[in-house]
Order: sequence, then C-alpha cells, then structure tokens
Amino acid sequence: MAKNIQAIRGMHDVLPSQTPHWQYLEACVRDVLGRYGYQEIRMPIVESTELFKRSIGEVTDIVEKEMYTFEDRNGDSLTLRPEGTAGCVRAALEHGLLHNQTQRLWYQGPMFRHERPQKGRYRQFHQIGVEAFGMAGPDIDAELILITARLWKELGIDGLELQLNSLGTAEERAAYRQELVAYFERHHDALDEDSRRRLHSNPLRILDTKNPDMAELVAGAPVLADHLGEDSRQHFGQLQALLTAAGVNFVLNPRLVRGLDYYSLTVFEWVTDRLGAQGTVCAGGRYDGLVAQLGGRSTPAVGFAMGVERLIALLEEDGRLPEAARADVYLVQMGEAARREALVLAERLRDALPQLRLLAHCGEGGFKAQFKRADRSGARIALVLGEGELARGEIGIKHLRDELPQEAVAVDRLAGRLAEIFDKS
Ligand code: ATP
Ligand code: MG
Repeated sequence: MAKNIQAIRGMHDVLPSQTPHWQYLEACVRDVLGRYGYQEIRMPIVESTELFKRSIGEVTDIVEKEMYTFEDRNGDSLTLRPEGTAGCVRAALEHGLLHNQTQRLWYQGPMFRHERPQKGRYRQFHQIGVEAFGMAGPDIDAELILITARLWKELGIDGLELQLNSLGTAEERAAYRQELVAYFERHHDALDEDSRRRLHSNPLRILDTKNPDMAELVAGAPVLADHLGEDSRQHFGQLQALLTAAGVNFVLNPRLVRGLDYYSLTVFEWVTDRLGAQGTVCAGGRYDGLVAQLGGRSTPAVGFAMGVERLIALLEEDGRLPEAARADVYLVQMGEAARREALVLAERLRDALPQLRLLAHCGEGGFKAQFKRADRSGARIALVLGEGELARGEIGIKHLRDELPQEAVAVDRLAGRLAEIFDKS
C-alpha cells in the first residue's frame, strides 16, 4: 500500500478542537484593534524575493537561510513571506496609503521560515501584525505597547515581561558597531561559530545569542545606550515616561536587538519564561528608514508582530479557552418522506431561531445509530421525525441531557417550544 502523505515538517494543521482557541484570540485582537482605530489590510502570501532582501536585510538570518524562495514558471524569484511588515509597506506604497496621511493598519496570517522545528518554532507559523505610519513621536510607540498590554489583560494572559531598548539612529548604531566589533575581536577565541560568522556581517545580533557559554562575554560588551545622541535619548525617555504614566511596567534590556535590519530607536519584546527557549510572544519596534528604503518618501513607522502559536500555547496552558461549540439540537429522521421533510423543517427552524445550532442528520441510519450521533454532537435535544410523526403533523422532542419525558409537539408549535426550552438554559 502507498504511504500516506503527511504535512510538511514544521507545518501544522489546526484541528476542529483547536480552532475555537484561535477564533477566541482572533476575535479579541480584532475587537481591541478596532477600538483603537486600526484597520485590517490583507496582503498576498507570496512577494518578490527582492522585497525581503531590500527590507529585512541581506545578512540577516531570515534572508540568509530561512526563506522559502523559488522560481515560478516565468523564472521570477518569489518568496513565501517570512514576516508581514515588508509586504505591508509595499502595499501601502503601491496604493498611495502614505500620501500626507497617517495609517494605523493590522494584518494576520501565515508566515514561513525554514528554521529547525521545535516547540514554539515552526516553518509555517502565524502572526498578527500591527503597523502605524506617519507618526514620529514616542506617543505612537506607547500606543502600540498599550494595545498589547490591553490584549494580554483581555485575553487573561499574565506574567509577561515587557523589555525595552533603543537602537538609536543608523549613524549612532554605526559608531557603536565599530566599538562592538573591536570588543569581540579582542575576545575572538571566546566567540562561537555563529558569532564569528556574524562578527562582520551583523555584529549586533551576537548580543542576541541564545548560547549560554557566550553569556559572560556578551554581558561585558559595550552598551548601545551609551552611544545614543540627544534626540534618541529624549525619544526613549519620553516613551518610558508615557508607559509609566499609563501604569505599564517594563525592564530595560540593553542587549535587546532585533533580527531584522530595519529597526531604529524603540524596540520591544514581550517575554515569558513559561515557553522554554521560545519565550518571545510579541516583538516590534520603530523602523523610520524602511519606507524610503523601499522607494517611498521618508515616513516614520512603528509596528509589532505577535506569534499566534506561542500565545495559544500560553492560553492552553492556563486552560482558559472556550471549547468547540456543541450542537443544541440534532434532527433525527426515518423514512423517505420524512427525510425530504426534515431538510425543509430544519431550514424553517433556522429562520425562526437564528441562534439555534441545529444539526440535521443526513443519509441513512437506524434510530439507534442516529441517537448515538445526536449524543456525540453534544445536543441537548433530539427532534424526531418518523413516518408516524409525519402523518400526525408532529415532531417528537427527546431530552438527551435532562430527565424529562419525551414530548410530541405540532409542527407549527415547534419553534415556540424550542425557544422556551433554550430560553430556560
Ligand atoms: P525568535 O527570536 O524567537 O526567532 P524573531 O525575532 O525571529 O523571534 P520576529 O521576526 O520578531 O521573531 O517575529 C515576531 C514573533 O513571531 C516572535 O516574537 C514569535 O512570537 C513569532 N515567531 C517568529 N518566528 C517564529 C517561528 N518560527 N515559529 C513560531 N513563531 C515564530
Ligand atoms: Mg527568528
């Protein structure tokens, strides 16, 4: 026999028992973002490879080794999006959304990175991303962080730590970079292989190493905060003051750098210690240079992305998630004529009682088998339409969960009786 085809490694199905968890999270996010005036944007999953090279940066992990890149039938190089910001900026530019106006946008969907799959790290994963364009001050940075704080509160996720840093301007970072490279060169022997590779391509990323053997070396490295100019310092100070005034706690993490090249000034992460090594559930920052880098007029911008799988893992651990919705009513039918009548009856009930979750049995099956399915559906009530009921113009009502006698109701009274039964619950 042929071997069953399985999902691609690192890519997962979300099963019916889990989709309510996703829907719960998505509904909460949609609601909160709507209340802050953010509008949803939907971009294609595939973009030109060039877009990611130009935005994320040629020497980042993502572009160097994680992208799903392929040639389509025209020979064009395309890439499954590894993140959403680049596509969002591309779309905003393409449709003139940034002309003399501010934009508050959000999106959600799958992202693709060819990483080593492990708990909390997948090759297809999902992000909910938020981007704000045209606002340069620390107030919009603070607004984004307040949105995330509110989300955790409304979702019931606690114990997350907000880490903040400022990466300064590109010039400030360049000066710092030189000093950092000099420091690591002096300690070349203590660098691991990854860090040696990054030393001249992307030395700031060494600070982000997850290798415990490097912790001491990194702790002794020069700190970017000492290289910030007056304006950067002020922006960062004001952001902190705004957060403090709004009652949001944070810790300063001078070693917080982000994996993507385009960040400047504010960067932040929400981190938990409950998910093992994959502890960052939300990350973002300011990227004032990116719009111009992609060919637009220079436009300040700031955004963040949440890792949906990691948030769901936290919610599932807390057991605070809704279960899959159960049916209220299961319609059992027997006989050719009743089967025809059953679908019509079900439609009439759905018209009359839009809140009712009604599962109509389809196909063959004896009463016993149908009642078994009715039970499994979670329904409180089975409606019974057999030949006898049909002839009498009645429907049988069998209570599956309560110790109540079976009833027979005239067809035209059925909706009213169901309304009574479900109103009481
Ligand atoms: P990490 O340091 O964990 O690799 P990152 O800096 O690469 O994260 P971002 O590009 O900032 O991550 O993406 C934002 C969020 O998306 C992350 O904080 C994380 O929650 C989630 N995320 C990133 N990569 C993955 C992945 N491979 N699988 C699951 N979630 C991911
Ligand atoms: Mg990563």
